[in-house]
Amino acid sequence: MKKREDTYRHKGLRKKLVEIVKEKGITDERVLEALKEVPRHFFMDPGLDSMAYEDRAFPIGEGQTISQPYTVAYQTQLLRVEPLEKILEIGTGSMYQASVLAALGALVFSVERQKNLFEKTKQFPLQHLYRNIKFFYGDGFEGLPTYAPFDKVLITAAAPYIPPRLIDQLKPGGMMVLPLNEGAYQRMLRITKQPDGSTTEEAFENFSFVPMLKGRNGG
Ligand code: SAH
Repeated sequence: MKKREDTYRHKGLRKKLVEIVKEKGITDERVLEALKEVPRHFFMDPGLDSMAYEDRAFPIGEGQTISQPYTVAYQTQLLRVEPLEKILEIGTGSMYQASVLAALGALVFSVERQKNLFEKTKQFPLQHLYRNIKFFYGDGFEGLPTYAPFDKVLITAAAPYIPPRLIDQLKPGGMMVLPLNEGAYQRMLRITKQPDGSTTEEAFENFSFVPMLKGRNGG
């Protein structure tokens, strides 16, 4: 990825985007601050630069998308991220969501199943700012047993079911946020793991994500 600049114009557009996301119902000030901080255009094709601060998803290659900023903010808010928490993200994609988690001070472990997208993480454009992210090439259904347990798990692709191994890798008291497939759309869920290992479930709004697929691709 060639060096990109974060100009006053970009910063101004980002401020406006944060206002839009706020109007749509995001209230967590720390999440809004993180959105204001992370230059989303760094994670998109230079040809899409002028559109990077529209509140919508965009293609990033391999049939995948960078999530809509509102969706990123929504999932991040539900996750109640605290500094130094260990967070497992499934679906690195553009690295934008991972950067937002890192901006909140979390220790991010992000997994991607598409080899070509994983290869791009080797040129993570905010390496100098966020050293608290590690990228992995793997199948998110398996998680990262070597690095478990995690305080939080965030799935950023439409899950066909709640992946049991990811529940196993969650600390007692930990939370997982995921969009669960219900046919035409996905229902956002927050799962909380109780001290005794059982789980409770809260359901939120409907969203539309690309599918969470089995196995690795391209390796
Ligand atoms: N968090 C990303 C969103 C990308 S879209 C961002 O901020 O841009 C979802 C991503 O999940 C895609 O890149 C897709 O390849 C990936 N994915 C789908 N199934 C997966 C799996 N089983 N394991 C890991 N990644 C997966």
